[in-house]
Amino acid sequence: MEGTRMSGVQCPDNRWSWVEIDLSALRRNARAFREQINRGTQMMAVIKSDAYGHGAVACAKVLHSAGFSQFAVATVDEGVALRKAGIDWPILILSEPPATAVPTLVEYDIMPSVYTVDFALALGEAAAAAGKVAKYHLALDTGMTRIGVRREDVVDVRRAIDFHRGLECAGTFTHFATADEPGDWDFELQRSRFDEAVAALRGAGLETGLVHCDNTPGTILHKDCQYDMCRVGIGLYGLQPAESTAPRISLEPVMSVRGRVTRVVYPQVGDGVGYGLTWRVPRRGVQVATVPIGYADGLSRALSNRMDVIVAGRRCRQVGRICMDQFMFANDVNEAKVYKPVGPIEYGDLVTVMGRDGDEEITADELAGLLDTINYEVVCDFGLRLQRVYV
Ligand SMILES: *Cc1c(COP(=O)(O)O)cnc(C)c1O
Repeated sequence: MEGTRMSGVQCPDNRWSWVEIDLSALRRNARAFREQINRGTQMMAVIKSDAYGHGAVACAKVLHSAGFSQFAVATVDEGVALRKAGIDWPILILSEPPATAVPTLVEYDIMPSVYTVDFALALGEAAAAAGKVAKYHLALDTGMTRIGVRREDVVDVRRAIDFHRGLECAGTFTHFATADEPGDWDFELQRSRFDEAVAALRGAGLETGLVHCDNTPGTILHKDCQYDMCRVGIGLYGLQPAESTAPRISLEPVMSVRGRVTRVVYPQVGDGVGYGLTWRVPRRGVQVATVPIGYADGLSRALSNRMDVIVAGRRCRQVGRICMDQFMFANDVNEAKVYKPVGPIEYGDLVTVMGRDGDEEITADELAGLLDTINYEVVCDFGLRLQRVYV
């Protein structure tokens, strides 16, 4: 199948590069999770880091209409931005912010995760002074050693704060370090510690609120841990958290990254390309084209001379060091073994850095593999500066 050159493509006026977000794919992924989640279990959409680079406000609206009733972000400022955009559904911060953030949390009705007594009491004081009751979720450290109350302290911490009329425990949760490894012993250990802590709270007559622990891989692989709510992140954006989940759910990538050729030349044999001239034109008939996407847009410099792009449904190789705001690629008609000739590249041609064009596709996993990282980091980084176009 022929790829698209330019016709019918939505693209920003001021810079020929953009992140394309397919909101109908997001909706289909959300429905696929609805199928995975037990009846009566609530769904929380994790939209931290601007929905993993996909745009938190637009994604929240689609996800809410697809049945996600609660939202999680990483920072207080992310929560405030959602409130200012008119999102008035429950928002949870996935860690405990500094106590200096308390007035903002109370003003905007944003729930923090809580794991220290001092923070909880500061929150309760500020809420009571404003005539409100602040909801929070108690975080438990069951083995990841990142955040949360240590499991042996859970009842004591709750007893130290529960008297406060300005506080309401709306949830109790933990986070798994190895939810993506089926049959993992450490996972079972975390799960049993979580169950014991929840039982201890209930045994002490303390209200737990919503009990939750499953992230994307947990939701897919450990249905018996879904409890009152699942917290789904990466899977909503169409990316698999691990090889183990791929056979269990079919998902469609939501993000593509594209640009247009802003310059194209036939350099002389031996001419170098980019900073350090790390690639040189090997023979006649090679075109070198420029695209306005660089490492400040999330295209890691470590991909230099290693990644491909797609033009008209064919792969071309990226050459020279990736710059802060631009990169170059080569169209070499002689390299027909790996890179089939696409015909002459022209000014304005559509270039796909991540996504599908014709029969070719470059996935977030392909880029993550080249970078020795995970798809999560690849999509978050593309959220840095590129304009988003919703399709
Ligand atoms: C990021 C995060 C999630 C979502 O994880 P995914 O693997 O993207 O589903 C869930 N819970 C917590 C506490 C997180 O920090």
